[in-house]
Amino acid sequence: MGILKGKKGLVLGLANDKSIAWGVAQACQREGAELGLNYLGEPLEKRVRPLAEKVGATLVESLDVSDDAQIDAFFAKVQEKWGSLDFLVHSIAFANKDALRNPFSQTTREDFRLALDISAYSFIACAQRAAPLMTAGGSIVTMTYLGAERAVPGYNVMGVAKAALEASTRYLAQDLGQHGIRVNAISAGPIRTLAASAVGDFRKLMEKSARGSMLGRNVSQDEVGNTTAYLLSDMSSGVSGEVHYVDAGFHVGAGDPGLEG
Ligand code: NAP
Repeated sequence: MGILKGKKGLVLGLANDKSIAWGVAQACQREGAELGLNYLGEPLEKRVRPLAEKVGATLVESLDVSDDAQIDAFFAKVQEKWGSLDFLVHSIAFANKDALRNPFSQTTREDFRLALDISAYSFIACAQRAAPLMTAGGSIVTMTYLGAERAVPGYNVMGVAKAALEASTRYLAQDLGQHGIRVNAISAGPIRTLAASAVGDFRKLMEKSARGSMLGRNVSQDEVGNTTAYLLSDMSSGVSGEVHYVDAGFHVGAGDPGLEG
C-alpha cells in the first residue's frame, strides 16, 4: 500500500532524468499516485514522453507557465480528463544566464521581471487553477533554495525570486487552508541539473555545501522525491505553510552558510 494510493496529481517541471521533478515523479508513482506531467513546447515533448511512459503518466500536455492562456488550457484539460485533483508539484525556475554571471548590482529590470515571473508568480498562477479542482482537499509543493534567505554567491536574482516564492507559499497556505489545501516548499541542497548549470560556479557551491551539510554529502533527486511524497500524502495532514530543508548545506557555524573559503 503506497502512501499516495488513489491520489491523482501533477508534477510540473520535468526536463530530463536529472530533474528534481524526475525524483518526485518516480517517488509518487512508487507510492501509488496517478500522474500528470507537462513539457515546455513541442521541441521538448520527445524528451519528456519516454519518461512519462516509465511512470505511467496518464496526462502529458504542453505548458509554458509564462502564458496565462496556456495555464488555463492546461488546467481545463486536467479538469476534462480527471475531474478533480489531489496534489500539485511546482518544480520550475528560470533566469537569464547573464543575470547569474554578472554582479547582482547589475541586474536589469527585465532580468528581474523574468526570474520573478517564471520562478515565483507561476506558482501562484498554477495554485489558483489547481485549488478549485481539489474538491476533497489537497497538497501543493514547490522547490526553493537557501539563496532565498542568504546571499549565496552566483545565485543572484534567483535568490530574490525564491524569497518571493517562499513568501507566496505562506500566503497561499493561509488562503487555501480553509479549503483543506496545504501548501509547502522544499529547500534542497544543490543537485546537478540543467537549471543548476546556469548558476555561477556550481561545482564549488556543491563542494562547499557538502562540507556544510549535516550528512557530510550532497542530497539526491530521489531524496527530494521521497520528502515531496510525504508532503503530498496524508502522513503530513497537519503540515502547511512551511519551508522544509533536505540537508540544504548551511550548518557550519552561526550565520555562516558553509560557503566561504
Ligand atoms: P531542471 O531539471 O532544469 O528543471 C527546471 C524546469 O523548469 C525545467 O523542466 C524547465 O523546462 C522548466 N521551465 C523553465 N521555464 C519554464 C516555463 N516558462 N514554463 C514551464 N516550464 C519551465 O532543474 P531542477 O534543478 O530540477 O529545478 C527544479 C526546481 O528545483 C527549480 O525551482 C529549482 O530552482 C529548484 N531547486 C534546484 C536545486 C538544484 O540544486 N538543482 C536546489 C534547490 C531547488 P525546460 O528545461 O524544458 O526548459
